[in-house]
Amino acid sequence: AVSNYFSIRKYYRVSCFIFGLWCLLYFVYDFRYCKYSIIFRRKVANNRFFIYFFYDGIVIYIKVMYPQLFAGIEINPNLIAILVTYFIAMISIVMMSIILMKHYRLQQDKLSELANQLQEVAHLDPLTHIYNRRYLVEYLNKKMKIESQKFAVVLLDIDDFKSINDQYGHIYGDQTLQAFSDSMKKNMDNKGIVTRFGGEEFMLVFDDINHEVIEDTLNKVAEEFALYGKQSKGIELSFSGGVEVFYQEDEIVKLFNRADHKLYYAKHTGKKKIVFDIDV
Ligand code: GH3
Ligand code: MG
Ligand code: MG
Repeated sequence: AVSNYFSIRKYYRVSCFIFGLWCLLYFVYDFRYCKYSIIFRRKVANNRFFIYFFYDGIVIYIKVMYPQLFAGIEINPNLIAILVTYFIAMISIVMMSIILMKHYRLQQDKLSELANQLQEVAHLDPLTHIYNRRYLVEYLNKKMKIESQKFAVVLLDIDDFKSINDQYGHIYGDQTLQAFSDSMKKNMDNKGIVTRFGGEEFMLVFDDINHEVIEDTLNKVAEEFALYGKQSKGIELSFSGGVEVFYQEDEIVKLFNRADHKLYYAKHTGKKKIVFDIDV
């Protein structure tokens, strides 16, 4: 589709260019009525009908509109035939242009639709249908530049996920990741974005750094996640997390490292918890 699009556009441009050049040359080298034309004289004699198409049209137009210019010059007796031929040719060209333009626009629409789809695919995680890490980094980079506001990230990791996979299989593991993602998406609503950081690790980006808002959201997700485990396999499902705030002139890698450090702390102090601050 992409190469087609370019060839159509190129073809259209080249056609217009050649047609324009052709008209110009015929207009300038008025070989039938002026004695200066040398270049086309031979060709004209051999291929009269074809070459006189546009030339005649222009001349006839001028003859009708400005008859004084042609005073004393004999008018072609086949005026009507030439006129009709001229208009048929002009209509054909106009129709061709319209068809080509429509085709070109259609291709353009298809291409932009394809580009949108491609971007969506590139930004989404195929299993959970939430944003992937590529999008997360792009999003944070933009957010860092545009907003002077602070924002918070939460790095989450499902507890003992390996044993869930081992005990109930990878299919159930995948379903768990989907259920977890759905719950996060639902509870995040318009507070920020939900992304898959990798494996069974996720990152939430909260637009504001309100402690209660973050805690409430994560509590609701924790409840729903536990309920899912209970209802599906009668097991306890939980996750741990680390919350970090982005300050101005921070770096993404540093932000991730600080969040990871808090997550690590949560894991090593009993799991099933969210760490906002590490008390030293
Ligand atoms: P911890 O509480 O310390 O986080 O323990 P854990 O078992 O969750 O820790 P670990 O990070 O070692 O295990 C992650 C597991 O997640 C290992 C991997 O097989 C599994 N996993 C990662 N991605 C997927 C996935 O897309 N589908 C499934 N089913 N499992 C996945
Ligand atoms: Mg992990
Ligand atoms: Mg884990």
